[in-house]
Amino acid sequence: MCVRDALELEAKQAGVKIINSVSVDQIKKKQHFQIHCKENKNIYTADRVILACGSKASQISGSDGSGYTLAKMLGHNISSVVPALMALRSDEKYFKKLAGIRTGATVQLYIDGRLIDQDTGELQFTDYGISGIPVFQVSRYASKALLQKKKVSVLLDLVPSMSNDDFAAEMTRRKEQYAHRTAEECFNSILPAKLIPVLLNLCGIDKKLWAVKVPEDKWNQMIKICKGFRVNVTETNGFEKAQICAGGVRTTEVDSHTMESKLVKGLYLTGELLDIDGICGGYNLHFAWATGTLAGTSAAEEE
Ligand SMILES: Cc1cc2nc3c(=O)[nH]c(=O)nc-3n(C[C@H](O)[C@H](O)[C@H](O)COP(=O)(O)OP(=O)(O)OC[C@H]3O[C@@H](n4cnc5c(N)ncnc54)[C@H](O)[C@@H]3O)c2cc1C
Repeated sequence: MCVRDALELEAKQAGVKIINSVSVDQIKKKQHFQIHCKENKNIYTADRVILACGSKASQISGSDGSGYTLAKMLGHNISSVVPALMALRSDEKYFKKLAGIRTGATVQLYIDGRLIDQDTGELQFTDYGISGIPVFQVSRYASKALLQKKKVSVLLDLVPSMSNDDFAAEMTRRKEQYAHRTAEECFNSILPAKLIPVLLNLCGIDKKLWAVKVPEDKWNQMIKICKGFRVNVTETNGFEKAQICAGGVRTTEVDSHTMESKLVKGLYLTGELLDIDGICGGYNLHFAWATGTLAGTSAAEEE
């Protein structure tokens, strides 16, 4: 039995009537709420309504952003909604060669040259940019900044387990001691194999050149790029590929003790519809459950 089955069973036992496969396209409040359904054209009346429509990220859950329209109809204000917890896109051509690489990295997000957020974990390269949990974690800031036409970039530390000094010392040692290794071979076991030729090429180093013959300045440039590989972000992966949205119904318009609207008596708002978003780690589901429980309990208690 899945969680939904358990909830459905409990609701049925409590005498709840469940109406599936209809979408609400209008809610009006006169003396009571009037809830208009698109498909069956029915109008339901209610004393209390809980809006738990989610956001407009990834429509697999059925959420298409219509919750924002319903909240607006009832007088609520919506902070700009942007996709979050998703991959970031770049127009650099070399990503086609990097697609499929997974490697540990620290991802630092810069907006207009200022460090805003960072995370360390498994970075994934795709043919259009970067993905993986550490990218998801910083993506909400990128999304908001891109909406405001700000300059967004990430700095990737591709050898996060070593300090800058230790890494530089190790690569200098390899260059000096491995007389019969190519530049490419010197970076084996440090970086994923597919990544090495791309980075060497960006530094103007022939991958087949003996490491000892690589000019000092180019070798140092390669060391630097491994610890700080700058990627300009041009776009996010959009609402359809996002796990959540940042933005939504303004939290100042909702009583956090009950989740009741401060503008419309008897209206409750929960979950992702609200202007609250969390990083990966179960926080968004937790917030949806917690506010749903609070709204349900409060709505049932009200006189
Ligand atoms: C691929 C993916 C992976 C995720 N992984 C995680 C994770 O690991 N951990 C985590 O914490 N969060 C995760 N999330 C985010 C999490 O699922 C959401 O934050 C959470 O489900 C939001 O709950 P909600 O009840 O507010 O909205 P939703 O779960 O979106 O539910 C809203 C419901 O309202 C219905 N609805 C919407 N509009 C209308 C309308 N007009 N009329 C009738 N019905 C309507 C929808 O059909 C839907 O059933 C993930 C999301 C995605 C897409």
